Amino acid sequence: MPPLQVVWFKRDLRIVDHAPLYEASQRGWVAPLYIFEPDLWRQPDASNRQWQFARECLQELDRELGALGGQSRGLIVRTGDAVQALEQIHQAHGIAALWAHQEVGNDWTFQRDRAVRRWARRRGVPFHEIPQDGIIRGLKSREGWRDHWETEMNRPLVPAPTVLQIAPLRSDPLPDSVGDDVCPFAQRGGRSRGLALLRSFLSHRVRGYARGLSSPLTAPSACSRLSPYLTWGALSLREAVQATRRALARAQNDPRQAGLLRSLQAFESRLSWRSHFIQRLESLPSIEFEPMHPALAHERTEIDPALFDAWAQGRTGYPFVDACMRMLHATGWINFRMRAMLTAFACYHLWQPWRAVGLHLARLFVDYEPGIHWSQIQMQSGSTGISAFRIYNVVKQSYDQDPTGAFIRRWVPELRRVPVAWIHEPYRMPPDLQRQYGCVIGVDYPAPIVAHESAARAARQRLHEAYRTPEAKALSEQLLQRHSSRARREARSQPARAQQLGLFE
Ligand SMILES: Cc1cc2nc3c(=O)[nH]c(=O)nc-3n(C[C@H](O)[C@H](O)[C@H](O)COP(=O)(O)OP(=O)(O)OC[C@H]3O[C@@H](n4cnc5c(N)ncnc54)[C@H](O)[C@@H]3O)c2cc1C
Repeated sequence: MPPLQVVWFKRDLRIVDHAPLYEASQRGWVAPLYIFEPDLWRQPDASNRQWQFARECLQELDRELGALGGQSRGLIVRTGDAVQALEQIHQAHGIAALWAHQEVGNDWTFQRDRAVRRWARRRGVPFHEIPQDGIIRGLKSREGWRDHWETEMNRPLVPAPTVLQIAPLRSDPLPDSVGDDVCPFAQRGGRSRGLALLRSFLSHRVRGYARGLSSPLTAPSACSRLSPYLTWGALSLREAVQATRRALARAQNDPRQAGLLRSLQAFESRLSWRSHFIQRLESLPSIEFEPMHPALAHERTEIDPALFDAWAQGRTGYPFVDACMRMLHATGWINFRMRAMLTAFACYHLWQPWRAVGLHLARLFVDYEPGIHWSQIQMQSGSTGISAFRIYNVVKQSYDQDPTGAFIRRWVPELRRVPVAWIHEPYRMPPDLQRQYGCVIGVDYPAPIVAHESAARAARQRLHEAYRTPEAKALSEQLLQRHSSRARREARSQPARAQQLGLFE
């Protein structure tokens, strides 16, 4: 067997629109490789629920690659450190070239990729890292970025190879689990499930999207639910964008479809925000660890274990907050607005450190995507200096988004018998009613851990003081110029336009 073309799969677990696989397939014997890296799965943002999803994507990828190679399975799995795994293959078989997509992951994956690059240079192995999703490595300014993204999204999909000469290398088993985190209602992985969701969303579910995305009652079916498939690359962003644009073109030709058109446009913008935020992490990797704006850097440095744990376990005494957290524990997903509210409640009302809050949520999200996640955590915790402070009134959200209390009753069974009049604020119930409805506050269900209105007022005051100095304002302006797209900069000076653009939900 001549030296191998190694295709290293990371978070791009598909055979369609996979340029590294296609290019390698044109050049001879291919080793489609996944390296199970125990250290990666020990990182504080990683969890078993994410692994379970990735594992199912890998199993389907294995079958798909096998079919291309005329055999039952096609993925070669190695366990351990990436450099060592590649060195072993190189020693045993010789690597002619290494192919991969450029990954915008966390700092750990970035350092790992640097080590692999150094190894490839030392060994004289060409390492082709192909960009994807319109992300530009080493980008200095956002001017022109949007046009570049458009060009990338409009390119035809890279076809799956028609045949693949798969090298007969030994393969390790995929571990069953990487921890004891259980998520009974998590989405299942695999490209075919992702494709089915894309189809069902664009053919009918999208009709309820704009109307349904804010409430956690409607969002699970109104939203596309594509996020974990995009995170793990079972679907490419380009194929989602192109399918959406085909649906948009059909709706545009029909004047009766105004509502549908609005929903499709709202969805299409979100697909572009995905790359917008991943580009932010690519250009400013420090946002994983440090606030974008230093105004609050010396505040919220200590975790208060009692407050933090109450929030993290869904026992704050605010039923809607607790229901959201418990849904997240059980399903690995919640909608945008509720992610924002959970973050804001922890970082504003409870004044907890944004990074600890972000890590807890990252582990709970099956779709954890570092670029979107750390950008959003910073935005929703008031750490960027360039986005509005959104201190949610958690009780108002409860009345607005769950008017009958059905969502709360589903996820907080202690409150199952509490009638709608008290469900949003059970701590206001007179003691005899608490007993009557089987929910004594402080016994069956916690009393609120903070008074939400005064906690919000205190947070607003602290934010105002931290960001009002001329130096803080000047820095905010600089950050805005560097990290915002033109649309966002315009939106800041024209809030009504921002609403229209759907930049806030
Ligand atoms: C604090 C916080 C943390 C978040 N962390 C993540 C994360 O780790 N991974 C993740 O995929 N999303 C994250 N989001 C964004 C958003 O909440 C999810 O993308 C969305 O809820 C996923 O569900 P969906 O696929 O049904 O979304 P849809 O509404 O159907 O959107 C389709 C796709 O567009 C992209 N998208 C949607 N909203 C946004 C947004 N605001 N910014 C960037 N891209 C967006 C996602 O890829 C999503 O899959 C976070 C939001 C907040 C407020």
